[in-house]
Amino acid sequence: MVALDLTQGEDGIAAVWPSSGIFVASLMHLGRQGRISTTAGVALASLLANYLGGVPILACFGYTIANLAEGWSVFFLMGGEKSRGELLAKPLNLIRFAASAIVISCLSALVAGLLSTNLDLRFLSSWASTVGLGMLIVAPFILFLVQHDNGYLRLNSLRAFWVLLLVALTSFVAFGQAEIPLLFLPLIAISIATAVLGISGTSLALMVVAVIGSVLTIYNTGPVSGYFPTQHQQVLYMQVYILGLLISALPIGLLLAQRQRDLLELESSNRFLTAAEKAARVGHWRYSPSEGRVYLSGEARRLFGKEAEPRSIADIAALFHADDQARVAGILHQSLQTGVPFVFEARVPGVQGQVFDTECRGELGTQARAEDYAIFGTIMDISERARTIRELALARSRAEREAKEVKLLAETDHLTGIANRRKIISDLGDAVRDAARHNELLTVAMIDVDHFKAINDSFGHEAGDRILQEMGTLLTDQFGGLGTVGRFGGEEFLVVARGVAASDLQPRCAELCSHVETRAWSVEGLDKVTISAGIAELGLGASEADLLKAADSALYFAKRGGRNRTVVFDRNHVTA
Ligand code: GH3
Ligand code: MG
Ligand code: MG
Repeated sequence: MVALDLTQGEDGIAAVWPSSGIFVASLMHLGRQGRISTTAGVALASLLANYLGGVPILACFGYTIANLAEGWSVFFLMGGEKSRGELLAKPLNLIRFAASAIVISCLSALVAGLLSTNLDLRFLSSWASTVGLGMLIVAPFILFLVQHDNGYLRLNSLRAFWVLLLVALTSFVAFGQAEIPLLFLPLIAISIATAVLGISGTSLALMVVAVIGSVLTIYNTGPVSGYFPTQHQQVLYMQVYILGLLISALPIGLLLAQRQRDLLELESSNRFLTAAEKAARVGHWRYSPSEGRVYLSGEARRLFGKEAEPRSIADIAALFHADDQARVAGILHQSLQTGVPFVFEARVPGVQGQVFDTECRGELGTQARAEDYAIFGTIMDISERARTIRELALARSRAEREAKEVKLLAETDHLTGIANRRKIISDLGDAVRDAARHNELLTVAMIDVDHFKAINDSFGHEAGDRILQEMGTLLTDQFGGLGTVGRFGGEEFLVVARGVAASDLQPRCAELCSHVETRAWSVEGLDKVTISAGIAELGLGASEADLLKAADSALYFAKRGGRNRTVVFDRNHVTA
């Protein structure tokens, strides 16, 4: 009603019809229910406004039907339900909207003309431009306010106030006087509004120009009324003028919208990158020698500390653990010189005294200008993995130690602590094989305590055990340097002497015999203990069984010869 009252022309229609824009914006923003109520509301308002504006009743219906049809047509051309929230998201949508609005407003004029039986070209052109502008200027502005994040806040700023003030001032200057033709001034202001406030700024600024320009023109101030005598011509000029302003602002608006979209996309991909870095515990960094600075990503900062501001390779290396710094600096310098990618592990001291284990990878890459190269690196927090590896290594060495202990236990005689029968026989097998392979000497001595049963009987089994223990020590002292000494069974011991001839072992056995005979024992009342020994040297092609048999046989002769003596086995005869 206000639009009609203020801007109604000779042809009975308004010069500006914002209702068209409000209707389209509502259809594109509201849901199904809202669209039905809005349609009903617009129908009622259109009928009422036109009727009260003095339009013949039949024409009122014709105009109303045309208004409703045009709104729904643009809504469907924009994709119907799918158009919700889309208009300002993509610049292409805005172009599609502008094209739809222009085509549909021409068709709307035709419908309005047919239904009101007024096919006068002046009427048609006036209707089309009125409706078209109503949609083009008002709809994007409303949708911006309701759909765009912070759309309201952006227009509610001081900047918006100054820009719109500029638009208003230029409009006054352009349309408020006729002496100097300054109609280009609002164009500059609209461009500024578009650049500062975006496409919604364009809409708002166009509204300001349209209102001020129209009102001043109606009151016959300004250049338009001077050029064009009839109101219809003035209105038409104003509409074409505003359309011109809109079209010249569109490229900047589209570019800005595209930039806004790119920025949002960049922001969200940055967010994703940060989230991915955090989840994977991988940071990244970049050092470009020509820029002389190091970029650290969020996760890299978490590891290196927030205050880290490295500017060189030395600075980067200094972020690592003191013990790793020289190595890291060397690796990075080398990569910078040779271009070879690097992988290394190093520790990073955390701010709270903890130490991160990290794995760093990187390589040389070029920047935007090919001659500006940079090191691109990643740093991964592998503290958990490193801890697991350390624990595994610890568990492994413990297991190895235990296995060694078990093996030793399995090879040790529990009473004397020297090799047991299993071990001494296994060593003998090895020694026989080695001797045969390398053609080396090998001699064994089988040593048996004389009348040990009698000692047991007289002094007790425990005393016998002590004698056996002391005997083990004596044997080890005497023969340990020559080879293995083991308890062969009971009170019988075996010495395996590698690289030793029987003639060399014999005097040492004899020496032991006399030492045993003369030494004092820890068993009270026990005067004397003696031993007998049978010695045998490995003959050509002989087996370990042959060797043991020969030693046993020599021992037998030592016993039979009166004990407390050493006998060397001889193929023909056994010598004492
Ligand atoms: P010979 O001079 O002919 O070798 O006489 P012997 O009594 O030493 O030989 P014999 O084979 O008749 O007896 C060996 C004894 O050694 C019998 C057994 O009770 C004793 N003996 C075997 N093992 C142990 C042991 O671990 N501790 C003690 N205390 N005695 C043992
Ligand atoms: Mg004996
Ligand atoms: Mg015996």
